[in-house]
Amino acid sequence: MFYRQRKYPPLRRDRAFAFVVSAGILLLPLCLVTQQPVFYAASYACLLISLWNYFGKQNPEQFFENRTGLFNRRAFECLMRENASRRYSIVSLCIRNYLDMRELYGERQMDRCLTHIGRWLHEVFPAQNTFYLRNGNFVVQSFAPFDQAEAAERIQARFAESWHVGDVDRFFDVSCALLDSSVRAASVHDIMNCLAMAHHRQDHTVLPDKRPVQVDGAYVDDLRKEVAVKRALEHAVETDSVCVFLQPIVDARTQRIVGAEALARLYDKELGYISPGVFIPIAEKDGSITALGKQVFEKVCKFMSWPETQALGLDWVNVNLSPVQCMNPHLAEEFIAIQRKYGVPAAKIHLEITEESIINLTTLQNQIARMRKEGFRFVLDDYGSGYSNLMMVRNIPFINIKLDMTFVRAHFEDPNTLLPDTIRAFRELGFSITAEGVETSAMALALDEMDTTYLQGFHYARPMPMEDFYVFMKAAGRQAEEEEAGDDCMVAAKSV
Ligand code: C2E
Ligand code: MG
Ligand code: MG
Repeated sequence: MFYRQRKYPPLRRDRAFAFVVSAGILLLPLCLVTQQPVFYAASYACLLISLWNYFGKQNPEQFFENRTGLFNRRAFECLMRENASRRYSIVSLCIRNYLDMRELYGERQMDRCLTHIGRWLHEVFPAQNTFYLRNGNFVVQSFAPFDQAEAAERIQARFAESWHVGDVDRFFDVSCALLDSSVRAASVHDIMNCLAMAHHRQDHTVLPDKRPVQVDGAYVDDLRKEVAVKRALEHAVETDSVCVFLQPIVDARTQRIVGAEALARLYDKELGYISPGVFIPIAEKDGSITALGKQVFEKVCKFMSWPETQALGLDWVNVNLSPVQCMNPHLAEEFIAIQRKYGVPAAKIHLEITEESIINLTTLQNQIARMRKEGFRFVLDDYGSGYSNLMMVRNIPFINIKLDMTFVRAHFEDPNTLLPDTIRAFRELGFSITAEGVETSAMALALDEMDTTYLQGFHYARPMPMEDFYVFMKAAGRQAEEEEAGDDCMVAAKSV
C-alpha cells in the first residue's frame, strides 16, 4: 500500500529486500519441479526473511513524516550514509523563526501549513527526494545534478505568496541554502550541521538576505571555526577560564607606565589564543558577554587587590564594557558588589565604553551615575573610528577620550590638522587624551608634542598575561630607579 501511495526512499536495504523477495519467487518453481527439500527450506527461509524485513526493519512508515507526507530525518540520514561516495545536490529551506511562528499561529494551524508545504514540494520536485527534517527545515535532494539556484528561486517565489489554510492566509519567510558534494563533509551529521548553521546565521542577520546561501568549502571552514569559538567561549565562561591580558598605558610626558587596559583572550587547545575581535561579537550575540564581562572585571579587581600589585604603583586599569552590558539595568549593582568584595578603590577602575553603547541612553546614564557615585570613572573608547559623535561626550561625564588607532594612524600616513585640532579641542574642554596604536618612537614624540596625555601601543608593549605584566612592571620600575639614581649622580657630579 505504501509503495503505491508514496515514493519510497531509494535505500540500499530496499534493494536487499527486493533481492530476497525475488530469490523466494524464483525458488518456488524450482521446488515444484525438483521436489528437493533443500529448495523448500531455502524458499521458506526467504519467505521468513521477507516478512521479518517488511514488518521489522523495512517498515516504510518509519521513513515518513506524517504531517508533510515527505521522507523524514531518519530517511535522509540513511540515504546519505548509504550513498556517501555518490555525488549529490541539496536545496535546503527553513522557515525563519519557526518556533515563534508555531506559537503565533498555533500548533494545529502550523501542522496544516506544513502539510500544504510538503504537498507543494512533492508536486514541484517530482524527480528529487523531498524530506522534512524537523523545526521548519525541508530538504530537496538528488543524486542527479539539478539547477539548485532555479529551485531556490521557485521556492522563494512560492513563499512570497500566502499559504491558504482553512479560511486564513498564512505567510512565512524562508531562508534557502544550497549544498553539493563538492563540500567535503565528513558525515551526514556534518551536512546537517552545515545546513542548520547556514539557516541559523541567516535568521540572525539584521536585514535578512533573500538570496540563497551557497554552502561551499570556505563557508564550511568558517562555520566550523565559529562552532569551535563558541565551544571555547562556552567552556571559558563555565569554567571561569577567560584569560585577561594587560597592555601598559604610558604617560606621554614622563614615559612612565601609569595604567593598563585589560583585554580578554580565550585559549583553546586547537585554536590557540582567540582574539576578542572574533569572540566578542559571538558572545554579544549569544548573551554570554554578560558573564564574560563580569569575569574580566572580577579578575582585574582581584589583580588590583594583591599587595604585590599595589606596590607597583599602578594608578588605574581600564576595563572594556560592551554595549550589551550597558543595557543591563543591574550592571552597577553587580560591579559594585565585586569591587567591594576585593576592597579595591573604585577610582582604580576605569570603564571604557564606545559610542555603540548608547542604545538606551536613560539606562546607560542611570548605571553610570550610580557607578560614578561609588568612584568609578568612565572613558570614551575608539573615538574617530566611525562610530563617534560629539553628543556622547556631552551626555556622559567622561574623564578621558581614547583616540582610535585608525584615526591616529591616518594622521601619520597623510598628516593634516584634524588630529592636532581634535586633541586641542578635547584638552580645552578638560579631557585627558589617550592615543591608541602607538607603534614607533616618532609617533610617541609627535603625539606628545600635540599634547596627548597618555600613549598605548606596541611601541611600549603588546598585551600580555597578568603574571608577565607584573614582571614587566617590576623591570620597568627598576629601570626607572636606576635612571633616577644616574640623574642624581650626574647632579651630584655637576655640583661638586
Ligand atoms: P580596544 O578596546 O580598542 O583595544 C585596543 C586594541 O588595540 C587591542 O586589541 C590591542 O591589542 C590593540 N592594540 C594596542 N596597541 C596596538 C598597536 O600598537 N598596534 C596594533 N595593531 N594594535 C594595537 P584586542 O586585544 O584584539 O581587542 C580588540 C577589541 O576587543 C578591543 O578594542 C575591545 O573593543 C574588545 N575587547 C577586548 N577585551 C574586551 C573585554 O574584556 N570586553 C569587551 N566588551 N570588549 C573587549
Ligand atoms: Mg578599549
Ligand atoms: Mg579602543
